[in-house]
Amino acid sequence: MTPMCRGGKDQLVIAEKIYAIFDQECQRTTRPRRMIADRLVQLAQSGQDFSIDDLWQDLRQQEPHLGRATVYRSVEMLVNASLLDRIDFADGTHRYRVCGGDEHHHHLTCTACHRVVDVDICIAPELFAQLSKLTNFSIEGHSLTLYGHCAVCRGSAS
Ligand SMILES: [Zn+2]
Ligand SMILES: [Zn+2]
Ligand SMILES: [Zn+2]
Repeated sequence: MTPMCRGGKDQLVIAEKIYAIFDQECQRTTRPRRMIADRLVQLAQSGQDFSIDDLWQDLRQQEPHLGRATVYRSVEMLVNASLLDRIDFADGTHRYRVCGGDEHHHHLTCTACHRVVDVDICIAPELFAQLSKLTNFSIEGHSLTLYGHCAVCRGSAS
């Protein structure tokens, strides 16, 4: 199988999903949540990853009273709903990305520049079956993050 980079997401679908999750969790979509949703749709389109503080600082330009906790809770909600992916870096920091939750995939991260690439490869099912047998666990989920140096960073480092 050829590892694939995943392309841009359908912004309307993403927006609808975000609103649906907010409505479900909060009864109504407030102005701050609408702002968060709009910004996430933009980020989905550009494929850009972000930290809670990036998002908060961005939104505070429009809404100076927006609390960090509101942004944090919204992000958590969307991560739990698999609309956002939390990406962990080798140095212990993490960022988020709007991956949409449709396709199973993993992330390849550059330890030098923190570039993130979505890849649709996974561990072979036979390996999970083996592990399950070996440990007597019923394996219900997994996360996998691949680290390395991207072409740009290898070029400048060598
Ligand atoms: Zn992802
Ligand atoms: Zn790099
Ligand atoms: Zn997987």
